[in-house]
Amino acid sequence: MTLALAGHGVARGIAIGRCHLVIRNELEIGEHRIVASEVEDEIRRYQDAVEAARKQLRELAGRMDRGAAAPAQEILQTHIMMLDDSTLQRNTEEHIRKELCNAEWALQTQLEAVLSEFRNLDDEYIRTRGEDIGQVVRLVQGKLAAEDSDRHLEGIPDRLADTLVIASDLTPSELSALFERGVGGIVTEHGGPHSHAAIMASSLGVPAVLGVRRARSLLREGETLILDGGKGLVYASPDNTIRKHYQEVQAETRRFREALEKIRDLPASSLDGRRVVLMANAERSTEIDQAIQSGADGIGLYRTEFLFMDGGPPDESEQLAHYRSAVEAMDGRPLTIRTLDLGADKLPEVLDFSEPVRNANPALGLRAIRLCLRDSAQFKIQLRAILRASGHGPVRCLVPMITNLEEITKVRSLLDEARAELTHEGLAFDHDLPLGAMIEVPAAALALGELGRHLDFISVGTNDLLQYALAADRVDEQVAHLYELQHPGVLRLMQHIFREAGRMKLPASVCGEAAGDRRYTRLLLALGLRDFSMSPGKLLEVKQVIRNTDIGRATAALTRWLSDPTDHQTPLLEALDASQT
Ligand code: PEP
Ligand code: MG
Repeated sequence: MTLALAGHGVARGIAIGRCHLVIRNELEIGEHRIVASEVEDEIRRYQDAVEAARKQLRELAGRMDRGAAAPAQEILQTHIMMLDDSTLQRNTEEHIRKELCNAEWALQTQLEAVLSEFRNLDDEYIRTRGEDIGQVVRLVQGKLAAEDSDRHLEGIPDRLADTLVIASDLTPSELSALFERGVGGIVTEHGGPHSHAAIMASSLGVPAVLGVRRARSLLREGETLILDGGKGLVYASPDNTIRKHYQEVQAETRRFREALEKIRDLPASSLDGRRVVLMANAERSTEIDQAIQSGADGIGLYRTEFLFMDGGPPDESEQLAHYRSAVEAMDGRPLTIRTLDLGADKLPEVLDFSEPVRNANPALGLRAIRLCLRDSAQFKIQLRAILRASGHGPVRCLVPMITNLEEITKVRSLLDEARAELTHEGLAFDHDLPLGAMIEVPAAALALGELGRHLDFISVGTNDLLQYALAADRVDEQVAHLYELQHPGVLRLMQHIFREAGRMKLPASVCGEAAGDRRYTRLLLALGLRDFSMSPGKLLEVKQVIRNTDIGRATAALTRWLSDPTDHQTPLLEALDASQT
């Protein structure tokens, strides 16, 4: 009889294979006394263990395909950074010295101190950091116990292509080791949709269902399993009907992927011969590599928050080094660097922002360009670094959350100051650096006729534009049903933006998530968009829809749909698809 279990489907894909249960023996951490003369040796033993853990993580990260697995790489890099954290190291060493105890125990005590601080804070981000520190400490403790790095994976075959691994939970390093062995899919008893195991699995393309309670007691070693990573389902000993259904789904997915590969080097042209520009959104260098591999025409959104989230505000040369390496990697294709967009959903814990930033309604408060203009000396450092990067290849400067003309004027005048300084210092830059605004505030969208005259290009941030237009917080699941691009009011707003931009010959793109969602590609084309920027993994899917769309017909269908509000029997996206046949 078939047994069906449900959990969080966190990494799409179907896996069919043999069940392998991982029963992990937790390390026992005990306290041992040492004498004063042993302290230095104990500290050295601890430092060697940290070094061995660092080496293992670096090797895993190094072996991982840089382009294909950006978020997975980032998680491993975060763990390496945590190992390098001087506070944890210093406190552990001090604890060994003062308490005359073994390194394992000192580390455990430090971990518990950090976690108890975190427990008092009701914050998803902090909780994830706690999970990270726990995993890093566990890795070092394993090294102290001279544990084989793959001990937890003992007994698991080297080749896992037809095997589904069932574990209590998996650390990022364990998950990457399973990935290297070609694991078919993973199921864990713990972990939710935002856990690192979820991000890793999705980034590495390993079908995964997490949070399946008691999976290890309900499933049997060696039995056949089917895992549906999209729906979050696991079938044990599936009957023939289920098996056949999933074999067909698997074959279809394979055909879809092969079809995408074939269009990698073909142009993004519609059936009626219109060329569409496909750019990528990027943050870290791994995404730049991925963008190049996917054949992106350039980077339409290079987010810079990561530079400010990981530590204190970076100085000009540190920023320049990042921007320069991105522009050089793009090798002649444009790099659109967005100035700092902190505040609201993007608040670093490391920066000491004063109260107004953390007000009751942060999305409407002091964020993005508003925050930057509050401290123009700090902001000018970023503008100087962007200008200097433009001396190494085509760069555009994009400013988030522009609301009014005054902000544009202030940015222009700071850019002028920065240009004058760089000229005086004899430093190279592009004198015609294009300046663009993100259109995210509905009033700015409606005032594009006035604002656009002072800009060289615009990029529509649909993630924010929708939240402001629909008064629906982008991160609040309870109002997610309201957050909809197909709302007639949003459609008219978008139509207005592209019409105005067209009239003013102002280059206009969309860089919000909607640009990379193939369900909306035809709609965006019909609204007048010809320049998309999206996460690099989505590029080929979107290109495929463009190549199968007659934009003229889609536009006519949208006009019909919008002009007769009584005739909304057919959902808009279906009406657009129907227009193509
Ligand atoms: C947007 O708002 O659509 C956008 C791309 O910016 P972010 O998601 O970084 O706020
Ligand atoms: Mg935004």
